[in-house]
Amino acid sequence: MYTLLFYQFTTKNPKCYNVFMAHIIDLTGKTFHQWTVLNRAENGNQGAPRWNCICKCGRKKTVRGQALRNGNSRSCGNTHGMSKTKAYKTWINMIRRCTRPLSARYKDYGGRGIKVCKRWQRFENFLADMGKPPKNKTLDRKNNDGDYCKSNCQWATRREQARNRRNTRWITLEGRTQSASEWARELGITRQALYLRLRRNGVIAGNSTLR
Ligand SMILES: [Zn+2]
Repeated sequence: MYTLLFYQFTTKNPKCYNVFMAHIIDLTGKTFHQWTVLNRAENGNQGAPRWNCICKCGRKKTVRGQALRNGNSRSCGNTHGMSKTKAYKTWINMIRRCTRPLSARYKDYGGRGIKVCKRWQRFENFLADMGKPPKNKTLDRKNNDGDYCKSNCQWATRREQARNRRNTRWITLEGRTQSASEWARELGITRQALYLRLRRNGVIAGNSTLR
């Protein structure tokens, strides 16, 4: 309670802050994720203590002490040379198809309510949880209706992905193969209606005949 009052008092009265400066813990030399604190910087607008920091990539920036401690700021925000990697491309494409209505695949992701978890809004967290993608493997959601998060994702080959989804029915029409759900969505009908139509046309909708 006293801490809160003290905080409100000091932040609302920047001039009073200097009186209490002696109470600020010195962060010089400490590391927070990719940041190393160099020295004290000028206070922010509201009197919040800030520190000059250097990222592991060499970029310098002034960061609020609070952001360092609670992990809101972990690095300069740069991709640290990762932007050309498959991991980064996978991440940025995942974000795009879930958040950008203009993205070509949005209707199957963001448009269906599929989200990227809060933690994975940062590339570095995604990389820490998933590691680099193994050769020939792509990002796969175990539950196709679930979000993008650590517990629902794995790196898998296309074949593994199809096998994991036991109820996936592959249908080849006019030389194109895609799942029943994808066909139904493309045609703007339900899966049941799709199966009905296939049966009516003499195509049996069972895994054995559709592969
Ligand atoms: Zn950096």
